[in-house]
Amino acid sequence: MADKIYIFDTTLRDGEQSPGAALSILEKLEIARQLEKLNVDIIEAGFPVSSPAQFEAVKRIAGEINVVIAALARAKEIDIKAAWDSICNAEKPRIHTFSSTSDYHIMGKFGSDQYGRSIQEKRETVLKMSHDSVAYAKSFCDDVEFSAEDAGRTDIGYLADIIETAIDAGATTVNIPDTTGYTMPFEYAAKIAELRKRVKNIDKAIISVHCHNDLGLAVANSLAALDSGARQVECTINGIGERAGNASLEEIVMALKVRKDLFDYFTDINAKDIYNTSRMVSGFTGMIVQPNKAIVGANAFAHESGIHQDGMLKNRETYEIMIPEEVGVVKTTMVLGRHSGRHGLKARLEELGYTLDNKELDRIYDLFTKLSDKKKEVFDDDLRTLMGDQVFKEDNYYILEDMQVHLGTNAIPTAAIKLKIGDEVIQESATGDGPVSAVFNAFERILNMEFMIENYQVRSVTSGREALGEALLRIKADGQSYNGRGVSTDVVEASAKAFLVALNQMKKPQAVLV
Ligand SMILES: [Zn+2]
Repeated sequence: MADKIYIFDTTLRDGEQSPGAALSILEKLEIARQLEKLNVDIIEAGFPVSSPAQFEAVKRIAGEINVVIAALARAKEIDIKAAWDSICNAEKPRIHTFSSTSDYHIMGKFGSDQYGRSIQEKRETVLKMSHDSVAYAKSFCDDVEFSAEDAGRTDIGYLADIIETAIDAGATTVNIPDTTGYTMPFEYAAKIAELRKRVKNIDKAIISVHCHNDLGLAVANSLAALDSGARQVECTINGIGERAGNASLEEIVMALKVRKDLFDYFTDINAKDIYNTSRMVSGFTGMIVQPNKAIVGANAFAHESGIHQDGMLKNRETYEIMIPEEVGVVKTTMVLGRHSGRHGLKARLEELGYTLDNKELDRIYDLFTKLSDKKKEVFDDDLRTLMGDQVFKEDNYYILEDMQVHLGTNAIPTAAIKLKIGDEVIQESATGDGPVSAVFNAFERILNMEFMIENYQVRSVTSGREALGEALLRIKADGQSYNGRGVSTDVVEASAKAFLVALNQMKKPQAVLV
């Protein structure tokens, strides 16, 4: 009998920690619904203690989605309590708590004397904290996962002690993360094998792996660990995550599928939902998938060279080890236009994986009709980009009522902006070196604040003359940075929308991490 590999998706926790990838609560819920369709085993929904919005998102997901919902907590009572409060209504709740175990992390995080003087004393403190936090989590919830942060660089003897202690305290899954993406596949496989030898009670828990991609080895490391007995893989859609990202879910799943001659394992993932999930996550986070990305990149199944095309025409298998349809990439000729109507739009969006209530349908229909006035044919990618615009955003504090920009070869660019703030409407105009800077200056005047533009990018996200342009922006005010993203066929308007999204971020309660 082949062994099942549990797929633990952390797109909404580790993935959301990618720079610039802030998701609204409704976007997270929508992604969670799609992950349920994809049939992942565990969704790590967030880090509840870190902010009220994180807490709320986890709670909403736990209340609706029927797979194991994990909430992250440091080895602190306040974190574990917040994690439990956010998932206590879930059908299948899991508390995921972690301690830092490598000497690098122990010295970095527990440097002061209160945790002990020598490294040996500090290690003892961390061991006790790990035990107590797992036991505390267990007092709420049967399903407890313990992670030894930076296990990849942790001394094997100490790592074995701490894992044994966590299992004794009640951990049912023990995660051995390569937090810094430092290890090599053979080294990581040997580490897992060694732990299985040294940890006496290891059979009482599932071994999990969580690999980062700093050296491009996250997927290779995860697969190598399976042969040593790991049975849970933590991964994200499109491999997004801290720094260089996490192991990519789609690559793990398809590697196990395509090479089932080598691996005697299976996952329960519905591979046909991979492509829709990938596009949804990319649309909501604004993180584009590189064209040459395995499985889900735009070029993953494209054959450009003449020799390859010739071979492909004669026999598909010449150069193709899997077929695009397997992961849900289907060539669609379905195009929407001005006359498609609400019903046609809703039906198409459902096929792309989105669930919409009436308010959301009103919003997307409004965006869609504006777009189809300018662009005769609206493709799937246009729709996905529009979905990432304002459809699932919370109601905003600042609302752009009107914007006019004047340009001329011999005129100074001028922008006039009307902004609704609460019940008040304020209008201002300003000049600038170009139309975008005129718009930003007008915003500054209205708010009587100065912003530093830390990052500003504009790109075309769909094709054709009336392609949708996307503006990504990071502004800084009073030492805090805020991200915004806007979409329009007009790049000046896209930039203004991005500025507005960033402004509205300012009005949200910020992280309260202690
Ligand atoms: Zn991570």
